[in-house]
Amino acid sequence: MDNFSHDVLIIGGGGAGLRAAIAVAEINPKLNVAVISKVYPMRSHTVSAEGGAAAVIKPDDSLDHHAYDTISGGDWLCDQDAVEAFVNEAPKEMLQLEHWGCPWSRQDDGTIAVRPFGGMKIERTWFASDKTGFHMLHTLYQTSLKYDPIQRYDEWFVTKLIVDDGRCQGAVAIELATGQVQAIAAKSVVICTGGCGKVFPFTTNANIKTGDGMALAYRAGVPLKDMEFIQYHPTGLPFTGILITEATRAEGGYMLNKDGYRYLQDYDLGTPQTEPVLRSMELGPRDRLSQAFVKEMEKGNTLEGLYGQFVHLDIRHLGEKKINAKLPFVRELCLKYENIDPVNEMIPVRPVVHYMMGGIHTDINGATPLPGLYAAGETACVSINGANRLGSNSLTELLVFGARVGSVAAEFASNQSDYTFDMAYESITEENHIKNQFFKEKKNQERIADIRKEMHKTMEEGCGIYRTENSLLASQNILTDLKERFSHVAIDDHSRTFNTELVAALELSNLLDLAESIVQSALSRKESRGSHQRTDYEKRDDENYLAHSLAYQEKDNKPRIEYLPVTITKWPPGERVYGR
Ligand SMILES: Cc1cc2nc3c(=O)[nH]c(=O)nc-3n(C[C@H](O)[C@H](O)[C@H](O)COP(=O)(O)OP(=O)(O)OC[C@H]3O[C@@H](n4cnc5c(N)ncnc54)[C@H](O)[C@@H]3O)c2cc1C
Repeated sequence: MDNFSHDVLIIGGGGAGLRAAIAVAEINPKLNVAVISKVYPMRSHTVSAEGGAAAVIKPDDSLDHHAYDTISGGDWLCDQDAVEAFVNEAPKEMLQLEHWGCPWSRQDDGTIAVRPFGGMKIERTWFASDKTGFHMLHTLYQTSLKYDPIQRYDEWFVTKLIVDDGRCQGAVAIELATGQVQAIAAKSVVICTGGCGKVFPFTTNANIKTGDGMALAYRAGVPLKDMEFIQYHPTGLPFTGILITEATRAEGGYMLNKDGYRYLQDYDLGTPQTEPVLRSMELGPRDRLSQAFVKEMEKGNTLEGLYGQFVHLDIRHLGEKKINAKLPFVRELCLKYENIDPVNEMIPVRPVVHYMMGGIHTDINGATPLPGLYAAGETACVSINGANRLGSNSLTELLVFGARVGSVAAEFASNQSDYTFDMAYESITEENHIKNQFFKEKKNQERIADIRKEMHKTMEEGCGIYRTENSLLASQNILTDLKERFSHVAIDDHSRTFNTELVAALELSNLLDLAESIVQSALSRKESRGSHQRTDYEKRDDENYLAHSLAYQEKDNKPRIEYLPVTITKWPPGERVYGR
């Protein structure tokens, strides 16, 4: 075994991971920082973000407006101290990114262009055409190359955290090119591994979004916070789940049912739909729009396609010139994946899982309860997203909390002594053992795809847009059974180099743990709030549930739920409405 050792180890090379690495390198150039990623960093999911990133920039906007929109959009489950830090630091981070080379789109007079996004009082979403994530990630990646102390492990898959002497001291990973299991010691470890949309069948998330980092932390004893809150995006393409960005509606697109009727006018979206309000009903919050789809489906007002029910998103009236200027990527996606041209045809869409509000429990700086372990980005729950994230807050969150976490992880690492590696040797033996289990022939052999398919089905049916006690209990039972069946999984590919079947098995084991934590958290929360809608408990219940759920993994591997009060600074819980 080689002895790999660093001051700070960052797991994940997406927006949050790269921003954190740059922060470490800037704060203390003497520290040696490593970024480990299961894919080449530019292939991280951040690259696919289209719509934009929110930060106050216009004179008629204010930090308080941004904070209030975020908090009310999150149905009062956001920690308000974290939201205040977020909105304060957001404009500085966005300008910093411009100075590093991010080509923000501009107005004719040269000032930053912003577009309205769902649930916001006022336009504050910066964008770079409709490839915002691509440009942001590229900027961060290029900037990270300037710093010599940043080393990279590209295409290494982390399987376990090393916890020794009561603190996190590194990770064990498989080098995918060779199949070798290695320990990488570190004085502090930052998890930036993104979300876990792949727990569900229809999702905008890339295949790599399997919540590995959440599972790593959960198994190391760190609780997962607010896992029941799952954001559906109302406009994904049926089957592939590919996202048709909210920018499409921000630019004036209509949602139409099978009769060509703008059905959202029949629903309470919390947004005033009369003048002088800037936005249309199509820019209501994502959870309410997704819920309206289910209601339309129940009324028989949706269309039936090869991959289930759908409605239409219509942008034909915007005209070819505007579509090409503002939404070129949307046109490209429709042509490539649906064989339709949105200039002349309507786009079929359905709600698809998009984002995890929940994640690894951290404080306002990204520190978890386990000393030496930090988290930022979609994998973390700080929490600024509460029960429903506002579109375009997430990309900015990567910058603000990536920078914050880098700074505290650097400080922690500066005060630790070197590592002895005893525990690392043990971890490697253990991980090799786990890995080899998949290569053995088993009685009643099970296949990855079968278990994954059943997990998807039960999560969609039992724990989707609407939930009930019975549907959740049914999912809980099926998941217990699936976990038992998972112990019989064996794989056909026994090669050492780029064994994607082995990676799929390890990812599925993470997804099953996370699915259980989601279902258990949803069962325990007997109220409806934001994206968590229980038809058996239809009202928000601030008396009992103005609190974050914390899922701990017990010795029998089952989740146990505790609650933590929400931090309120100056916005007492109110009705969730939008508009001035
Ligand atoms: C299609 C789409 C469009 C979106 N559009 C917007 C938008 O317009 N505005 C907005 O604010 N938000 C948007 N979002 C949400 C936002 O893009 C994501 O929440 C954010 O980019 C996540 O960034 P991250 O750095 O946390 O993780 P990611 O970018 O997902 O990166 C995760 C990293 O972790 C690594 N990793 C994971 N597991 C392991 C492992 N086991 N071992 C080693 N490495 C590992 C991966 O290789 C990767 O480098 C969108 C999301 C999607 C899916």
